[in-house]
This record gives sequence, structure tokens and C-alpha cells, in this order.
Amino acid sequence: MTAINGAARACASVSTMRQEHQVAIIGGGMVGETLAALLASRGIDTALIEAQATAAFAPDSEPDLRVSALNPLSTALLHSLGAWERVQAMRAEPFRRMQVFEGDQRPGLCFDAAEVDGEALGHIVENRIVQSALQSLQQPYLHRYCPARLRAMVTLPDRCELHLDTGQRLRVQLVIGADGAHSQVRQWAHIDTEFVHYAQQALVLNAVVDHDDATWQRFVPSGAQALLPLPGRRASLVWYHDASHCAHIQSLDRQAQCEHLMQAFPEELGKVEAVLASGHFPLSMHHARRYWAPRVALVGDAAHSVHPLAGQGVNLGLLDAQALADVLSAQGDCGDSASLRRYEQARRADNAMMLRALHSVYQTFSVDQPLWSGARAALLAMSHRAGPAKRWVMRHAAGERV
Ligand SMILES: Cc1cc2nc3c(=O)[nH]c(=O)nc-3n(C[C@H](O)[C@H](O)[C@H](O)COP(=O)(O)OP(=O)(O)OC[C@H]3O[C@@H](n4cnc5c(N)ncnc54)[C@H](O)[C@@H]3O)c2cc1C
Repeated sequence: MTAINGAARACASVSTMRQEHQVAIIGGGMVGETLAALLASRGIDTALIEAQATAAFAPDSEPDLRVSALNPLSTALLHSLGAWERVQAMRAEPFRRMQVFEGDQRPGLCFDAAEVDGEALGHIVENRIVQSALQSLQQPYLHRYCPARLRAMVTLPDRCELHLDTGQRLRVQLVIGADGAHSQVRQWAHIDTEFVHYAQQALVLNAVVDHDDATWQRFVPSGAQALLPLPGRRASLVWYHDASHCAHIQSLDRQAQCEHLMQAFPEELGKVEAVLASGHFPLSMHHARRYWAPRVALVGDAAHSVHPLAGQGVNLGLLDAQALADVLSAQGDCGDSASLRRYEQARRADNAMMLRALHSVYQTFSVDQPLWSGARAALLAMSHRAGPAKRWVMRHAAGERV
């Protein structure tokens, strides 16, 4: 396949210097950074191209709005790279219990780490801290291009040529799109996606509240509300709602936001002393029909994105990173189609199953009718009592293949 666009022709005249690497990863989000560290640790000469530099961590800073629940398998992967200790030295909050309930019905479905002999069900971590921890690793085989944006790529049978907005040109065996849900690499490789746009948005508010080592999620007919504990007396509150409601809450002053939250959220929230920051994020589900094209592979949100209500997005992306690293070798041709096919076989069906499951959860819990509300409460209560099934769900959410 050969693909070139106008920007490539423009860039070509800026610089004739060409750097050679085995692999180029486009996008240094959590997934791209993790994959870069994995490949470099295996002696693969890797270029990481990221458009935005990550701000240095300041211990007295307030938490960022973008946080993720990392499951034990993800933290184990970061640990194996030497990055998890660095995350913990900055900021991370474990949660040992999780409660999911419908409206005012309690207890709903409760998970406890003790039921699967675990120390924690997961950790809530700021995305930028995971990126910073990975960036601080010493990796002789890793070459960073940051800030730099991929402007164009040309794929040829034996290599791929990349044009950056800095004027630099790279020649690589394989380009990996880790450039997020709106992946340009995916578009340039002509890989289609299945796409579902959700009417709801995720309104995220960082607040000062008391909490223990638990996270909870309440389903109400208009959407869902959740608390993710952060270090100290901080929590990330997530409210899934239609766009106009999210805009309305964001237009309120901080005091009015506190009062509104205490009114609308369940009593588990307690007193909201302050709202520190808020933002909203559009929601969609998409799945690339293929995870590879000649000399191109996709990982993380570039390959799939899911509704965040079950906190699985980056956890799936890190499994992609691990699987792709496992099929590439420093000695062979990293762009070899047989390896890329093995990667797709290892990941696409598993991801498709998770995407379908999460979409079904979204559909089941977004029907605004009293009868459905009762059925959902009964379903959660029944699931709570079904010991083996509940443990299966817990192990799956923790990233284990069960
Ligand atoms: C509100 C919300 C809550 C969430 N909560 C959770 C959770 O609790 N648990 C969980 O597992 N997941 C969660 N997710 C999903 C998770 O955030 C994503 O799955 C994850 O961030 C995807 O990581 P990524 O590295 O694949 O992509 P991204 O984080 O999107 O990173 C892509 C990177 O590529 C760079 N880039 C893009 N184009 C170019 C280019 N042309 N050149 C150079 N660089 C480029 C961008 O600057 C960016 O840094 C949540 C998502 C949302 C919206």
C-alpha cells in the first residue's frame, strides 16, 4: 500500500535528514508510552512521537481531571517495567471495595478485594502521572520526538516513511498508531471502524470530600453517577448526562456546583466542601475492523474505545501493548505481516467481547422506565448473591483471562 498526502510533499522540502528506527509509535498517551517502554526494553530501536509535552509533576498540585482506574494486571505490567513504583511515589489511590446500585436500592452489587484474595481491586491514577513515570525510565533504545506531530506517512512494501511537523523525516519498518480515538494513522491506513455515538457526555468534577477505600457507582434513569477516590480528601466525581445538563452544571459557580452535587448524588457522597475543577468529555464506542494494515498496527483507543462506566478503556489498551510487544522481535522485520496478524488474533476477539458487554450494560442501564429500574435493582441484588459468577466478573474486570 502506498499513501501520501499534500502535507508530506510540503514537509519533504523542509528537511532531507532521515532518521532510521525499527518502529515508530505515534502518540505518547498511557498506551503508547507503555508500548514504547516494552519494545525498548527488548532491544527494539523505537521512536516515540508525541504532539504534547507532559507537564512536570508537582507534589503540591491538585489532581488532574483525567484519571483512570487501573486494574491489577495493568499495575503489574507497569511494575514489570519499573514504572509502578514511580507512579506510587507521585500519587495513586487504591480502592478495596466497589459498590454498584440502582437508585435508592441498597446494597446492590458489592465487590471486595478480600473475595478474590487481592490487596486492592485497583488503583485510581492520574493519566499524566502514568505518562510521567514511564517517561522517567532510562531507555537507551527509545528516541523521543516531542513535541512533534505526525503530518503524513508513506507506506512502501519494505518500509514506512514519516513526515513530522518539525521537518524531521523518519524511516521505519513499522508504524504503530497509539494516537487515540481520532487516530490519523488509522485513517491514513484506510482502516474502517464500527462506531456508536452516545447521547450522554461524562461530566467530571474533582472535589474535596471525605471517602474511604471504596468506589461506587449509582445508576439513575438519566445516566449514572460515580465516585473515584483520589489521595487525601479528594475524589473524582463522574456524572453521565446529556450535553445540555453537563453544560448547565459547568456554568454554575463552584458553591452552586457543591450544592447541586449534594442534592443529586446519593447520600454516600457526604458533604462536598469544594469543587476544584470540572470538565466534560464526549462519549462514543468504536472498534477498528482490522488492527493492522501493511507496515501499520493500531493499539489502545486508536483501535477501540468504550463507554468509561466500567473503567476498562486503558486496561484493554495496555493488554494490546503487551500482545503487540510479544509478537515483535529486535532481530526480525518488525513490519512482517505474519506477526501483525498474530497480534490481531491475540486481541481483537477479546476486545470485541468486552465492547459488546459494556455496550449492553450501557443500554440496560440507560432505559428511563420504572419497570426497568426495578428489574435492574433485582439483577444487581441477584448478581451480588451469585458468588461464583460475581468472582468471575471480578477476575475479568481485574484483567485475568477467565
Ligand atoms: C471521562 C473518562 C473516564 C475514563 N476512565 C477510565 C478508567 O477509569 N479506566 C480506564 O481503563 N479507562 C478510562 N477511560 C479511557 C481511557 O482514558 C482511554 O482508554 C486511554 O486514555 C486511551 O489511551 P491511549 O494512549 O490509547 O490514547 P490517548 O490517551 O488518547 O493518547 C493519544 C496520544 O496521541 C497523541 N497524538 C494524537 N495524534 C498525534 C499525531 N498526529 N502526532 C503525534 N501525537 C499525536 C495525543 O497528543 C495523545 O497524547 C476514560 C475515558 C474518559 C473519557
